[in-house]
Amino acid sequence: MRYSAWAILKQGLTGNAGWPQAWRSPDPRPEYDIVIIGGGGHGLATAFYLAREHGLTNVAVVEKGYLGGGNVGRNTTIVRANYMLEGNSQFYSHSLKLWERMEGDLNYNAMHSQRGILNLFHSDGQRDMFARRGNMMISQGDDAELLDTEGVRAKVPFLDFENTRFPVFGGLYHARGGTARHDAVAWGFARGADMRGVDIIQNCAVTGIDIENGRVRGVQTTKGAIRAKKVGIVVAGRSGQVAAMAGMRLPIESHVLQAFVTEGLKPCLDMVVTYGMGHFYISQSDKGGLVFGGDLDFYPSYAARGNLPMVEHVIEAGMTLMPMIGRARLLRSWGGIMDMSPDGSPIIDKTHIEGLYLNCGWCYGGFKAVPGSGYSFAHLIATDRPHAPASRYRLDRFETGIGLMDEEGTGAQHNLH
Ligand SMILES: Cc1cc2nc3c(=O)[nH]c(=O)nc-3n(C[C@H](O)[C@H](O)[C@H](O)COP(=O)(O)OP(=O)(O)OC[C@H]3O[C@@H](n4cnc5c(N)ncnc54)[C@H](O)[C@@H]3O)c2cc1C
Repeated sequence: MRYSAWAILKQGLTGNAGWPQAWRSPDPRPEYDIVIIGGGGHGLATAFYLAREHGLTNVAVVEKGYLGGGNVGRNTTIVRANYMLEGNSQFYSHSLKLWERMEGDLNYNAMHSQRGILNLFHSDGQRDMFARRGNMMISQGDDAELLDTEGVRAKVPFLDFENTRFPVFGGLYHARGGTARHDAVAWGFARGADMRGVDIIQNCAVTGIDIENGRVRGVQTTKGAIRAKKVGIVVAGRSGQVAAMAGMRLPIESHVLQAFVTEGLKPCLDMVVTYGMGHFYISQSDKGGLVFGGDLDFYPSYAARGNLPMVEHVIEAGMTLMPMIGRARLLRSWGGIMDMSPDGSPIIDKTHIEGLYLNCGWCYGGFKAVPGSGYSFAHLIATDRPHAPASRYRLDRFETGIGLMDEEGTGAQHNLH
């Protein structure tokens, strides 16, 4: 079914009884050309672009839980293309362009809203750093505007500008950045892939990867064995565990990251704001809740829930920047498992096993990458050649040290920055 204003009107007048299922729930077939492990944003986007860009539809996405239950439905939904380093800047620029036409491509309302993102700075040194970043963004073809204190005040007057320790010196404004409804992105890609013939198999965990003579032959799952010529691993925080099924040890640590939402408030924040002196970022959802997050919890974990010290840390940063949020009641908090790579940049590459491909290492920032990552991973799997914007995301950079992209300057110690 094609979603349209006419369809909504018709369904509204006929009791909403005619909406078809958005995607099927098939049992796995014994064999596919391609099996994608992981039905998060990246896995579903990969399946969609395999079908749409390469005509490859004999594809299954095998998901351990339900669609949207992983990080794709747990993030703070920030979408942006404000990366600086070569390799990252091209990739995220490409991804943002895909975002800008995604809802039309998918015929699905993912509530993508380019409401702008404002990165604050609080010292002369930080201003220089953001000016440099802004120049890199502009030379990449993206937008950036350096604002002084008054420029920031005109946009978000309720910040604590005169804070004694961390006064606001200005901000880098990226107008094309914004937010989207996270689980709708998963559903839109699932529907688009299913519509083209991809089987999406939920509640089916991969428990083993079959390899013979250095070549992948398929996967073992809780619903039986599935043969496949090619297999893609796209399981975010579980990357280390699934790659271990193929005998691989990845340069990935899994850490929990928490997020928070307040009760619904009247509209008061019409863009994303990030704090330059604490790890704190905030936006307001269309339902009215203030959605915010901060740093990783300070230990590796596979538990998708966080602990209280980080709650205190994030709220402290929020109160320092925006004291008015102290009046709001916190509705809930949750966590997701982040696949942290040593240089903070992802991996989209073949492995040493023929037919086995790897997509991981998205750290805090993989939601904005969903369409770009799916597009590039589909290209790699279909053609066996890297897609140009993602060609720097090689696995062997952690062995050779050549081509590391340490965007945040945090090195291997993501949990200590
Ligand atoms: C609190 C929080 C805030 C964030 N904020 C942002 C943000 O504002 N902007 C941004 O760009 N990014 C953000 N991120 C990061 C982003 O959400 C992730 O990088 C991205 O969603 C990861 O890719 P994914 O969607 O494919 O992951 P997931 O949705 O986690 O998908 C992986 C899937 O693999 C499945 N899986 C695992 N093991 C198996 C198995 N053995 N067999 C079958 N399936 C398996 C899982 O069940 C899961 O559904 C945030 C993350 C969190 C947790």
